[in-house]
Amino acid sequence: MKTLPFDEAKIREIAADYPTPFHIYDERGIRENARRLNAAFAWCGDFQEFYAVKATPNPHLLAIMKQEGFGADCSSIAELTLCERVGITGEDIMFTSNNTPDYEYAKARELGAIFNIDDITHIDYLERTVGIPELMSFRYNPGPLREGNVIIGNPEDAKYGFTRDQLFDAYRQLQQKGVKRFGLHTMVASNELNADFFIETSRMVFELAIAFAEKLDIRLEFVNIGGGIGIPYRPDDKPVDLEYVSRGVKQCYDELITPAGLDPLKIFMENGRMITGPYGFLVTTAIHQKHIYKEYIGVDACMANLMRPGMYGAYHHVTVLGKEHAPHDRKYDVVGSLCENNDKFAIDRPLPSIENGDLLVIHDAGAHGHSMGFNYNGKLRSAELLLREDGSVKQIRRAETMDDLFATLDFESI
Ligand SMILES: *Cc1c(COP(=O)(O)O)cnc(C)c1O
Repeated sequence: MKTLPFDEAKIREIAADYPTPFHIYDERGIRENARRLNAAFAWCGDFQEFYAVKATPNPHLLAIMKQEGFGADCSSIAELTLCERVGITGEDIMFTSNNTPDYEYAKARELGAIFNIDDITHIDYLERTVGIPELMSFRYNPGPLREGNVIIGNPEDAKYGFTRDQLFDAYRQLQQKGVKRFGLHTMVASNELNADFFIETSRMVFELAIAFAEKLDIRLEFVNIGGGIGIPYRPDDKPVDLEYVSRGVKQCYDELITPAGLDPLKIFMENGRMITGPYGFLVTTAIHQKHIYKEYIGVDACMANLMRPGMYGAYHHVTVLGKEHAPHDRKYDVVGSLCENNDKFAIDRPLPSIENGDLLVIHDAGAHGHSMGFNYNGKLRSAELLLREDGSVKQIRRAETMDDLFATLDFESI
């Protein structure tokens, strides 16, 4: 069952101040969920979630993450700067970038972020540019040793990370350079709903931690098992049971890390989707109906507001406000206005009969939603609103205007 933290009357009231389309985030849902994750891993004194900034790069949402005790996972200078401006700095930032230019490393260095590098050649690159920080982590790509999933792809074909042999080589190199603080990172799947997958990932990195201790005499300070916990986009999907994952990880820890004498080892995660995804909604108005070979509902949002359906063929649940309990006896394609036939939020979706002016809510848009937006066809990015715990609404990003869109153009010297 898909539920909403608001009803039609509330959204009509909000839409009177902030015209559709807009993204709206449920603060209560986000906070409760953040606390659920921290509580699940409370057994690990040094558990830390680094929220993946790219999922919702908005200062108000990042401030909530900070208040809930999360750090931030960044991969670009803009994300680093956002964190700086929200007061997330130092080792509360995990800088997990790839193909990174020197000026981005420089910013990460300035902020004292944890360097989690993506390739062995970047050791030399760092030496020649910003220097090697005192705490260094490497991203592991298990290649043929692990199966991935659809968003990241098979690890063997994925551009990220070090091979297993390169890890040994890299720690040895850094050891010789006098580095003393080390971490290990991996992220092999995205939007994964199988809880055992994350337990297996922890087993994999724990085994590596033991191998580094035995072969290199290196004691890792942390392992970061990545983000990638999936969310139930479809009504019959089951959310990942965090307590189950935590118990499984603890079992691996007790079996491997403690007997090896490597306790305490910090466990880090860097989820984005799982933290905010289910608590963000794209609200849009039906503006046209079209009857050709199929039935179409044209809405005032488009793929530029949420590209997951167009990009991945992803399912996003749609609720027609006020018609939640009406018979879903129509079948529609719900479409935007881009000159792109994959600009569809839903295809052949059973829905109640829709009239122009009806409000549609597109669920699970709270991560990799607004942030993936773009300006193709001159479409403007929408506002972002925060539904606070007291029921009030705060605009946390205004909608773009045509002036924003044209700000980089030169009309003078034509
Ligand atoms: C995108 C990304 C994440 C977050 O992924 P989710 O699927 O949102 O949990 C975490 N770490 C890295 C390195 C990423 O690229």
